Amino acid sequence: AGRGYICGEETAMLEGLEGRKCMPRFKPPFPAVQGLFGKPTVVNNVETLAGVPYIIKEGPEAFRRFGTEKSPGTKIFSISGPVQKAGNYEFPLGISLGRLIDAAGGVRAGSRVKAILPGGSSVPMLSADHLDLRLDYETVKAAGSQLGTAGIILIDEAVCIVKAAVILSQFYFEESCGKCTPCREGTYWIFQTLSRIENGGGRTDDLGTLLGVCRGISGTTLCALGDTAVLPIMSSVELFREEYEYHIRNKECPARGMEHKALYTTIMGGP
Ligand code: SF4
Repeated sequence: AGRGYICGEETAMLEGLEGRKCMPRFKPPFPAVQGLFGKPTVVNNVETLAGVPYIIKEGPEAFRRFGTEKSPGTKIFSISGPVQKAGNYEFPLGISLGRLIDAAGGVRAGSRVKAILPGGSSVPMLSADHLDLRLDYETVKAAGSQLGTAGIILIDEAVCIVKAAVILSQFYFEESCGKCTPCREGTYWIFQTLSRIENGGGRTDDLGTLLGVCRGISGTTLCALGDTAVLPIMSSVELFREEYEYHIRNKECPARGMEHKALYTTIMGGP
């Protein structure tokens, strides 16, 4: 039925379970009304279900002893980037990012964090001013991003933000299932435009075009992939506009030679 990022979208997963290609369904009807084989279906992720036995055994108040009032319980935080021990760490929600980085052995010697993706690759980027951000849903949202999957990606000072944006956009372009036009065409144009800027072919009107394409995808797609694919790109332009302008003005990348595959693995966690 398929494999790939989109197979985790709940209705795409139901399509796969019914033996068809994993593509998101139109909603409504939502799965709780009409899901697997047309029956009401509740789809939860494994982490949610893993919390249920503890709540049943110890009671909701015991669960609420961890975390914050609005974000109770614990969470598996995954941290990657320039830390000593990238990996998965379970902590109460509301732990500070600095404490999580300490648990991961600290930032590697000679590195500095330049940007943070606090909820996986599909959330707005934050600057290094947020290194002590409390990691709960409400605080990360107030800071302008989303906690999402709590897959925290730290971007090293040495990494060119335009190249990081190329890699993020490549992932979403390749993973778009192609069912709706704004996502299928828009992720392609974003990837192409960013690649051209990074390769020294940027034009003065590229940033306006890029942001226009992003806005054209936002809110017009069938599932969240399209909507969220533009968030790290738009925020990277907002936070690091001078890096983009440097590429366009000087027709070069100041971090030229940075190896694409290694960086792709660092940022996206895969080949
Ligand atoms: Fe497919 Fe993208 Fe549309 Fe989602 S938003 S259904 S991934 S084309």
